[in-house]
Amino acid sequence: MLQRMLAHIWLVLALSLLGPVLGLTPLSDESLRNIPIAGSDFDIKTGSILAPILIPRVPGTPGSRQVQQHFVDWFATHLPKWSITYQNSTGKTPATGDKQVPFVNIIITRDPPWAKPGDVGRLALVAHYDSKLDPPGFIGAIDSAAPCAMIMHAARSVDEALTKKWAAMEAEGSHGLEEEKGLQILLLDGEEAFVSWSDTDSLYGARSLADAWEYEFHPALSTYQNPLDSISLFVLLDLLGSARPKVPSYFKTTHWAYQHMALIESRMRTMGLLASASDADHPFLPEYDKGPNAFHSTFGIQDDHLPFMARGVEILHIIPSPFPQVWHTSNDDGEHLDMATVEDWARILTAFVSEWMELDEHLDQTIGPGKAKRSVPTSKSEL
Ligand SMILES: [Zn+2]
Repeated sequence: MLQRMLAHIWLVLALSLLGPVLGLTPLSDESLRNIPIAGSDFDIKTGSILAPILIPRVPGTPGSRQVQQHFVDWFATHLPKWSITYQNSTGKTPATGDKQVPFVNIIITRDPPWAKPGDVGRLALVAHYDSKLDPPGFIGAIDSAAPCAMIMHAARSVDEALTKKWAAMEAEGSHGLEEEKGLQILLLDGEEAFVSWSDTDSLYGARSLADAWEYEFHPALSTYQNPLDSISLFVLLDLLGSARPKVPSYFKTTHWAYQHMALIESRMRTMGLLASASDADHPFLPEYDKGPNAFHSTFGIQDDHLPFMARGVEILHIIPSPFPQVWHTSNDDGEHLDMATVEDWARILTAFVSEWMELDEHLDQTIGPGKAKRSVPTSKSEL
């Protein structure tokens, strides 16, 4: 009897551990191994993805326009199937008096080719690209140049597999039968305060976009009412790129998605696919087992998700707590990035996106700049 009870307890435990991730099928080991690294594209001086973002890019300045151009050129060149739109606004800031400062959000979307835009539920990958006015010359590598680069790498790494998957669905006539899934990248402007953080001096781009989308209705009979409603999950990356980050699970309603990402991390670590100094005892995402009663804060850390969350969008916030030491100092530059950590986040994110988009059987055909066969963990280096 006792044995049967114990067996039952084990079964319940096992199911409760597996339950939250059952909605998405985990990638095969083979696919995890095939998730490409960014390699030289993340070089801070010459890399085609990251280096052009590592300049001061305060809203309304030439640096900001230069970085916007980099995003648009890069997607047009490498990912021509993604559509790019802008959402523009202007606003006054406490640092710029009566001048209207322009804020430019860049929205990059890839939907199934047959789907009507109003019928696609999208995984949104979000980071801000503006940099802080102060201290002078501030670069903001973790805040948030590196997160922008991680998102670009993830998009590039799944692009070919998406094409193949959707072509196969059209060929076999299975398209349009289930819910439509797409990907969306939001590169937001004006996250930083110009003087000191307040409800009105921060999140300029995010507030404008969430407000605009609330009233941008899809045609009648669309599955989703407006572009906010179309977001199945809003994954916000911020302050990533310093060594040994600890990212808590902030929200009960998206803890299942956090678990899903944490499981990817732990599998990749076990398989020796990650390069960073964190080991199994110090994962980036340590709260897989967080209990339902352990979620206290309603809105979490103040960041770009707030205007979206206030309108009912589900949020997965990937931001370390405590913040990295370089945060908002002149040390937050390319030289202070821990590149192994940057690469690992990019690969974890890519695997997460691949699972979300159900690309398992198409991933091995993905062309990346470098397939890390079995990356050798670098020696543990402390800052
Ligand atoms: Zn910041």
